[in-house]
Amino acid sequence: MTLMRTLPATTSYAVGFGVSSFNAPPSHLRYRRFVIANASAEPSDKSVEIMRKFSEQYARRSGTYFCVDKSVTSVVIKGLADHKDSLGAPLCPCRHYDDKAAEATQGFWNCPCVPMRERKECHCMLFLTPDNDFAGNEQVITMEEIKESTANM
Ligand code: SF4
Repeated sequence: MTLMRTLPATTSYAVGFGVSSFNAPPSHLRYRRFVIANASAEPSDKSVEIMRKFSEQYARRSGTYFCVDKSVTSVVIKGLADHKDSLGAPLCPCRHYDDKAAEATQGFWNCPCVPMRERKECHCMLFLTPDNDFAGNEQVITMEEIKESTANM
């Protein structure tokens, strides 16, 4: 995976995800635990719907697919929605920031982030290229799926 070469080594995400990425594919559960830990707030339904629609449209536009485990997709969408509510911008929910507001203003990690736009690299596993082991075959996710798969989180 070339992803790690592009990420600052100082982020908790890069450190936590990088070891497993280079040595072996990350397991679903390992990944899921990480995302959950970073998306604890409950975003508004309005923002979840905005980010749900955005995710569907961008997956189609970029030729990428949602994770075979839609709970991963759901948690990332809710994390983006939470940041949209609190920061006014869909800052990537899978990273640590010293200053979230400053990062949101800067824009590099606002979804779709620069690595995604330039190289189709989504370290949140929201947008997966077809050759990714975790890619499903869907570019659609409903509000019901999001609510059901995150109900007990
Ligand atoms: S495209 Fe970038 S900002 Fe959006 S979820 Fe993926 S890694 Fe995060």
